[in-house]
Amino acid sequence: MNVLVSGASMAGLSAAHWFAKLGHRVTVVERADGLRPGGAPIDVRGRALGTAERMGILRKIDGQKVINSYPAPVLDGAGTQVATLDLRWFANETDEDIEILRDRLNQILLGVIPDAVEFRYKTSIASLVDGRDGVDIGFTDGLQGHYDLVVGADGLHSNVRRLAFGPEKDYVRHFGYYVALVDLPKDREWRRGMLNVPGLTIAVRDAGDGPQALMLAASPEIDYDYRDLAVHRRLIDDFLSRVDAWQVRALRTAFADPAAKGFYFDSVSQTHMPSWIKGNVAVIGDAGHCAALLSGMGTTLAMVAAETLATTWTECGGDMGAASPIHHERLRPYVEQCQAFAHEGAPIMVPATQAALDQRNATFRAYAETYVAKFPEAAGSAQA
Ligand SMILES: Cc1cc2nc3c(=O)[nH]c(=O)nc-3n(C[C@H](O)[C@H](O)[C@H](O)COP(=O)(O)OP(=O)(O)OC[C@H]3O[C@@H](n4cnc5c(N)ncnc54)[C@H](O)[C@@H]3O)c2cc1C
Repeated sequence: MNVLVSGASMAGLSAAHWFAKLGHRVTVVERADGLRPGGAPIDVRGRALGTAERMGILRKIDGQKVINSYPAPVLDGAGTQVATLDLRWFANETDEDIEILRDRLNQILLGVIPDAVEFRYKTSIASLVDGRDGVDIGFTDGLQGHYDLVVGADGLHSNVRRLAFGPEKDYVRHFGYYVALVDLPKDREWRRGMLNVPGLTIAVRDAGDGPQALMLAASPEIDYDYRDLAVHRRLIDDFLSRVDAWQVRALRTAFADPAAKGFYFDSVSQTHMPSWIKGNVAVIGDAGHCAALLSGMGTTLAMVAAETLATTWTECGGDMGAASPIHHERLRPYVEQCQAFAHEGAPIMVPATQAALDQRNATFRAYAETYVAKFPEAAGSAQA
């Protein structure tokens, strides 16, 4: 059968692998001119480890994982060290869980997609008409096609979800934060660490491919054009202007540079849908069940949902009416569990008040004591 996948990232590449492996003819359309680079390291955990094993990539991703090998200083708004953070304290759901650079995982996923899968970059779905015998698609490049199944794997601001299920506001819930990332230029020294003031986290980390800055800012929902990068840069600068200590001025310059690599800005949001399937259209990954960056489960859910959808639909002989309840039964409890994790991540990553921040830092200091035998260097004073 013919399957069209919109979006070539974790969810879309995983879907392309599974549908092709199960004998279907697969086309992938991606709006960008290639796989979109950038992003902080992401986690492959829990059920996704089994999915990765069945995809034949578990050893490869384990071999390229990020090693969180040293503690970093935690700073207050004046740039003074108040605690130490060692990511190994929180690292994993289980010891097997893997943190890997987003670009590396994308490349590994691409590597297990059969040559027969057709990729069409700089293309998107312009129109979608679902009927009894499949879906008629018009593409932005003027081509047309007919597919037995259309899979929306096109992220938080999904095009397929909008065309088939309705407007974004009906499904996407702002989780109260904005996130920004940028690769930092290598022509100067950057100090690793994390600075917090209430509702704002600014961090510098090197996960193996050079230093990268992260900003997480608490904010009510802002009405802006999510495709306008100049607006993104202005919003980031407004958030960062609250702090003038540490290396924040240089970080503002780095975020403001239109030529900077690895630039990413978006709302931290969740997608909640009563059904991920309508007729012969399905949404997976952030399009259907984004768990929010603070959950650390977005990639895991994307990979698991792709396998579940492809196997269930194939088992049901391409009858989506029969496959839909089974797919939801197999996936829904895990999605709910993963989305709940985001509530645990927020108070650790971006405490909202000074009292919450002090409490969080006291917890970090207590962790340093607790883990002193396992990670002796974390108890010391990692210098800012
Ligand atoms: C550049 C980038 C950086 C990211 N960085 C992080 C990070 O640091 N930490 C983190 O937790 N999560 C990050 N994410 C999100 C993370 O990748 C997802 O939460 C998770 O992996 C689920 O993946 P997904 O495939 O559902 O969505 P995404 O990874 O968001 O991928 C969606 C894909 O669909 C494409 N697309 C969008 N609209 C269309 C359209 N109209 N037609 C065709 N294709 C379209 C996009 O270009 C993208 O390739 C990032 C996403 C991107 C795109």
